[in-house]
Amino acid sequence: MSKLTFAVLPGDYIGPEVMTETLRVLEHVAQKEGLELDYTIADVGGAGIDNHGKALPDTTLELCRRSDAILFGSVGGPKWENLPPKEQPERAALLPLRKAFNLFANIRPGLLYKDLVDASPLKAERIPEGIDIVCIRELTGGIYFGQPKATTTLDNGEQQAIDTMVYKTSEIERIAEVAAVTAKGRSRRVCSVDKANVLETSVLWRKTVTEYFAKNHPDIELTHMYVDNAAMQLARDPNQFDVLFTENMFGDILSDEMAVICGSLGMMSSASLGTGTNSHGKPFGLYEPAGGTAPDIAGKGVANPCAQILSAAMMLRYSFGLDTLADRIAAAVRTAVESGVRTGDIAFGRPAVSTKEMADAIIAHL
Ligand code: NAD
Repeated sequence: MSKLTFAVLPGDYIGPEVMTETLRVLEHVAQKEGLELDYTIADVGGAGIDNHGKALPDTTLELCRRSDAILFGSVGGPKWENLPPKEQPERAALLPLRKAFNLFANIRPGLLYKDLVDASPLKAERIPEGIDIVCIRELTGGIYFGQPKATTTLDNGEQQAIDTMVYKTSEIERIAEVAAVTAKGRSRRVCSVDKANVLETSVLWRKTVTEYFAKNHPDIELTHMYVDNAAMQLARDPNQFDVLFTENMFGDILSDEMAVICGSLGMMSSASLGTGTNSHGKPFGLYEPAGGTAPDIAGKGVANPCAQILSAAMMLRYSFGLDTLADRIAAAVRTAVESGVRTGDIAFGRPAVSTKEMADAIIAHL
């Protein structure tokens, strides 16, 4: 019996609500497939602060180190927003986790079912079949981490601030590989986004990506696009892309734009892959919904669990190599939603179901 060892960190507000239902879905498929689920639930974020004095308790980090993957909920909310910025749940939990596991590749599917096109701010005629793309963002390099990074006072008394954008070939090649592997499971088209008409790092990015694909993935169609154009093209015709990948800051902005055009945050999953491999010989990863803790609807049992369930499916795919099972869960979510079972965020005038009823419908389609 194959054993899946993972840490479950539900977090705050709707985090535990959607996680409970996700674990029910996982238990269901595990039982049917003869998989052993070996998971441990631990505090993170506000729950970590309240129960252990910090957002990423040592015991939680230890648990993650013993695991093959992390299934993460979401953290933060009004209860902790007056803490100093460095102690805030999101910053003090997610950043150290990214650092501890060198989570360098953020993969976000931009998925909008045909039946949900009304959730998108784009005109329905631009996306008659919905949206189905993937955005991959480099997560540990670039201008957010490059040194020097400082604010100094000049001789004339003015202040001057500096950030440094820096990339080396190995960092570019490893994210290019994630894009290639993702594209091979789809339509084998990759668009690399940069600003090679202005930035030195982007010139190296484009050269490295071109050489890497020519040498290692000649069967994949590679195109390049400047980031300003990519931002426009995403809003004009998102489906012209299949897999797009880019450096940290460009990806931060483009992946949020993609989330908006795909409608409800309740449907948006994500994966962050690390450099290390787990005991299955697959990438260690952290899997979480793209949205936050939704304090406005927490405690009512109405949050949409789909994003968390789809994140769990990504965990099965990337960290456990269970592609078929991941596909089946993704298909069950789609079928449940297309059959008209909807939580409030995607109901559009239909009667809304509860978090639990949404999960029940997904389980019924598995
Ligand atoms: P949010 O994503 O929590 O909510 C924005 C809107 O989307 C709300 O109206 C909410 O009800 C809705 N929404 C989000 N997820 C939903 C779901 N699963 N089902 C139905 N509706 C859903 O963003 P926010 O309000 O800006 O942030 C709330 C808190 O979450 C903040 O403390 C923020 O720091 C934190 N946050 C955490 C993460 C994370 O843990 N990775 C990410 C983003 C925000």
